[in-house]
Amino acid sequence: KSKDLKGYAPICLGLEDFYTRRLYLRIQDCFGRPIASAPDSWIDVVERISTDNNKTLQRTTNTNKCVNLGSYNYLGFAAADEYCTPLVIESLKKYSPSTCSVRVDGGTTKLHAEAEELVARFVGKPAAITFGMGYVTNSAIIPVLIGKGGLIISDTLNHNSIVNGARASGATIRVFQHNSPSHLEDVLREQIAEGQPRTHRPWKKIIVVVEGIYSMEGELCNLPEIIAVCKKYKAYTYLDEAHSIGAIGKTGRGVCELLGVDPADVDIMMGTFTKSFGSCGGYIAASKEIIQYLKYTCPAHIYATSMSPPAVQQVISSIKVILGEDGSDRGAQKLARIRENSNFFRSELQKMGFEVLGDNDSPVMPIMLYNPAKIPAFSRECLRQNVAVVTVAFPATPLLLARARICISASHTREDLIKSLEVISKVGDLIGIKYFPVENEKA
Ligand code: PMP
Repeated sequence: KSKDLKGYAPICLGLEDFYTRRLYLRIQDCFGRPIASAPDSWIDVVERISTDNNKTLQRTTNTNKCVNLGSYNYLGFAAADEYCTPLVIESLKKYSPSTCSVRVDGGTTKLHAEAEELVARFVGKPAAITFGMGYVTNSAIIPVLIGKGGLIISDTLNHNSIVNGARASGATIRVFQHNSPSHLEDVLREQIAEGQPRTHRPWKKIIVVVEGIYSMEGELCNLPEIIAVCKKYKAYTYLDEAHSIGAIGKTGRGVCELLGVDPADVDIMMGTFTKSFGSCGGYIAASKEIIQYLKYTCPAHIYATSMSPPAVQQVISSIKVILGEDGSDRGAQKLARIRENSNFFRSELQKMGFEVLGDNDSPVMPIMLYNPAKIPAFSRECLRQNVAVVTVAFPATPLLLARARICISASHTREDLIKSLEVISKVGDLIGIKYFPVENEKA
């Protein structure tokens, strides 16, 4: 209700229906804004989309050049790259944008086979299989791995693709408190008596599903403790590394590398190519037997057109850069830079008094806004000052836990980050979201 914020959305506490209908109408242009460039460290954001009286969309072609704090381009591969881009162009000419075939009927190119071998080697599992979409990887694979008579125990904050996959499986679903190994153990103990052999349990199979970095929280999974509980109760582990693979760990091998977990202790490793690798698609890496089983039985492998060949080439090339197999040390430099950038940005935001979720090293850092009415204010004020941020709200978060989710990239320069911090600080003062005393005031 502040005068400064006149024109922004009304405050509507607790009224979910009202909120979704009315507030989203007001803030719709904070979401789905078209971008007119690659999702690099700077992007061209299309300035304004408005509706005229006849409710037809009017688009302007003016763009606003902004520091990009919203894309999952963690290692900066989603922009022209001296090694990847020429190879991707070559693959586009050789194979075309689409295989126009499913994997089992002409849709497997040499590139698909090479990528699957490389992904398996990179994540440290014996075999891997790729899919055209990360979302589908979860939602189509989980129902193949488990069904009626099985039990899925899922972290409360798991991604929607996992939730939908679990629901589609027909298995019984239980949730455990976010990132809590002790609550996971409580749930397991409730479901089975400790020490019972698999053959004598009420469940055909138990799968525990977690994420490496939680996409709305920026938190690392308590993986070593969760694996210990799974081993004790002989449950399978399914790890979604969408946001962690490539982005964390000394050599980019994700949460396992960062937390010292042997990949052999994770039964199913899932990941997407849409973040650190700057491509499209997803993968499952597991034992040879599981991957073979998926190849024979998974409808998304048998009936869906395979990954676009240039996208596959992008995966191969970016992993090679990360591994240093392009003959340079650019991969190691990118990994060092994303860690440095993430830790710098997080600590500066905290010093300014913002409430920032997540852990050190995580490139995902949500700034809490709480009140959903602050979404349009934060988003538009930042945009006006050439900083593009992503805001997240209900239903992706609980109604009153709205947040701005910053994603840091190795391609951000120190100047980009300092400019963004200055803008975010000003906007934070304007809309009142600095909940903690600033560093020198504390003293
Ligand atoms: N899993 C998680 C944890 C995600 O955050 C996402 C999307 N951001 C997906 C799966 C789906 O991946 P994609 O966007 O590549 O389809």
